[in-house]
Amino acid sequence: MSGKLVNATGVLCRLLEQSKPTINGAALLGGEFGEGGHELVRERLLVLGPALSYVTCPDCGIEMARAVRSVGVDQVLLYCDECGEVDADRALLQTYTVSLSRFIDRMVSSLELTPSNRKAIGNDISWRLGVQEHKRGKAQTWYFARHLNDHTVARHLLDQIRSDNAAQSAKIITSTDVPLPDGSPLVGYDIKNLAAIARMSQNVFLFFDDRAEVTVSQPEEEPAPVTSLRHVRHKGWAYVDGVKYELEGMQQKILLALMDDFDHRMEANQIRDKCGSRAARFVPIKYFGRNPLVYHQFIQYVDGDDEYELKISEEDRSWLS
Ligand SMILES: [Zn+2]
Repeated sequence: MSGKLVNATGVLCRLLEQSKPTINGAALLGGEFGEGGHELVRERLLVLGPALSYVTCPDCGIEMARAVRSVGVDQVLLYCDECGEVDADRALLQTYTVSLSRFIDRMVSSLELTPSNRKAIGNDISWRLGVQEHKRGKAQTWYFARHLNDHTVARHLLDQIRSDNAAQSAKIITSTDVPLPDGSPLVGYDIKNLAAIARMSQNVFLFFDDRAEVTVSQPEEEPAPVTSLRHVRHKGWAYVDGVKYELEGMQQKILLALMDDFDHRMEANQIRDKCGSRAARFVPIKYFGRNPLVYHQFIQYVDGDDEYELKISEEDRSWLS
């Protein structure tokens, strides 16, 4: 049961990543998408689009066949120049489109956000879903975006996050596979793939993780750290003995992988996967050629276990443990 529902969210993400989130009925309701496709229709996240008048002929699979007329409720008669008259399932001519407005409405209500904070950022591409207030005055600002592997889309979203003053509190959900490609303007932000964190239930997305988790945030006037990873995630800076080192993209990803790991110990290939690298043999120190001090301060190779361990400084212990 739940496998089927997770699958529906996965299908939804795949459709959202198409430039036009439309699919024909045969592909949606048969084959690999089957169960997930039916679920999306039942949940009314997909709406019927215009019927096609030409489709690839289901008999020869080559020529275009023209829709001639309906035959009963579920069948249509097609005409193919090669095969002549061909009977086909009506689903072949139907199209379904993701209802983006309904989908965003459902995200807003599932996260229990106030609809008044909602805003379309890019045309049918990205949205600010709303702001969630927390105890002790910490707020989180939620965003959803499609096509985030397109740097232009990511840059556009980043501009909005900055103008919302939400760099410290942004939570981004996307239909794009994560991690985002190297060089994305959003590296270091908290970005989750929708299918990885939520499943569909009746009229609601149920989120697996604790969405109330508060992103670490710092007041602006806080003194600069001495030896700390505190500003790695949002600013891309590491501090060693009071000196600020600006991290390169891969350096930041490696540190974040170790910071986010539950015991801060990982094998090289685990770090590689987390960083979205395809290197055959992933050696973290190779990426720290320009910041060797940062590597040696914060990362330690544990020889016997063939693992890398994060070395947490005294001043980071309170928030990074
Ligand atoms: Zn044919």
